[in-house]
Formats: sequence, structure tokens, C-alpha cells
Amino acid sequence: DPRNGLLAYILEPAKYYPNIVIKYDDRFVLIRDAFPKATIHLLLLPRDASKRDLHPRDALNDQDFLNEVLKEAFAAIELAASELSRQIGRYSESCKAHIAAMESEELVDELPPSRDFAKEFRVGIHAHPSMNHLHIHIISRDMHSDRLKHQKHYNSFNTDFFIPLEDFPLAEDDIKRNTSYQNGNLKKEYKCWRCGKLFGNKFKQLKEHLDEEFGAWRRE
Ligand code: 5GP
Repeated sequence: DPRNGLLAYILEPAKYYPNIVIKYDDRFVLIRDAFPKATIHLLLLPRDASKRDLHPRDALNDQDFLNEVLKEAFAAIELAASELSRQIGRYSESCKAHIAAMESEELVDELPPSRDFAKEFRVGIHAHPSMNHLHIHIISRDMHSDRLKHQKHYNSFNTDFFIPLEDFPLAEDDIKRNTSYQNGNLKKEYKCWRCGKLFGNKFKQLKEHLDEEFGAWRRE
């Protein structure tokens, strides 16, 4: 069953290191999403056998486990942020400018400001995951990817269908638990993550717009 595809990384992380598996220990495996929906898209996989088969809603309602996952997720964001910084290059450009300034023997008394790339990430789960084993998405906000190919790909990350870790534990009556509400989210009209512009069901127009926003976002 392809829905069990993440189990192999949980059981034998060493086998997939370092191509898919980025790091692992007894408790967690951090991997690259094979079909990334943004510039950086990682998955954090808890290895605990009493948790990994649970629905994320249930697994993450355990406060001790949630705290452990949060701590690991923050560490993963730091790693993801440095990878994003390398990929979109702003930091290295400002460093180069700084080095050039020093070499030209101008007086430079402070480092150029560098961007906090950790702020560009979202961490959470899908209300109804397609993969069976517990996984937490760590995804840059840009949604700029060739792998982003249909409505569910976009809306599952840009509506309440994406439930941030900080929303846990979920109250019993939280609307995000409601299946028909969540199915409705997947069918919503497209809304740009950055400027809020609406695109109806025009996927091609959304994709063109995401390209433009990506350019502006990386220059921020
Ligand atoms: P969800 O179940 O929360 O909707 O997302 C599952 C995620 O797993 C998707 O983003 C998908 O691209 C990713 N995925 C599916 N199969 C594989 C796989 O075999 N390997 C890896 N590394 N990622 C996968």
C-alpha cells in the first residue's frame, strides 16, 4: 500500500541517509518530502511505535509527546532555514558585499542585516493525511514548486486543512476536527498566501501569480 510509504524511513533510516533522510536518532527521523510543494519541504517522523500509527489529532493531543515534537520541530526549522538561506541566496549575497567592502578597505563597522529565514516556515499536519504514518510538515511559505499540480496540493497547505502544531491540543469541539468543514476547505477558491488575492478555480493563473510572488518574496 503506497499509503505506508513513510514506514520504511521510520524503520530503517540509515538505509535512506543522506539522500532522503537528513538526520535521525532513536526518537525521530527528518526526511525530504519526495514531492515538495515549496522550495523547502521536510517531514518530521516520530518513531515511537505507540504514536506513529495514530491519527495526528490523537497523537498530538498528548501534551508530553506534543512538547517533544515541538522541540524537535524547532530544531528542524533551524536546519530548514539554513537550507532555504543557501537556496535563495540573500544571506550569501550580503556576505559577499561585506567581504567586497572590506577588501576595498572601506570602513565597515557592522555586518549587513541578515534575514530570519525561520520565520518563512510553517509547521503542522493535514486534517486528513493521505499517508498513514504520523508526519509533521515543515514547509517554506512560498508554494513555489513544479510538484504543485492540483487544487488539493495548494489548498491543503493554505486553508484550515493545514493545522499548525501550535493549535494543539485541539478542543473536542474545534471546527478543524469536522470532516465536512475540512472537505469544504479543499474545494475553496484559491487565495494567494502572500497578498490574499483570489483566483476562483483558475489554477494556471494561480501558478503564474505564485511565480511572481516568489520573485518578490525572495528579494524581501
Ligand atoms: P499528507 O499525508 O500529510 O497529505 O502528506 C504526505 C506527504 O508525503 C506528501 O507531501 C507527499 O509528497 C509525501 N510523500 C508521499 N510518498 C512519499 C515517499 O515515498 N517518500 C517521501 N520522502 N515523501 C513522500
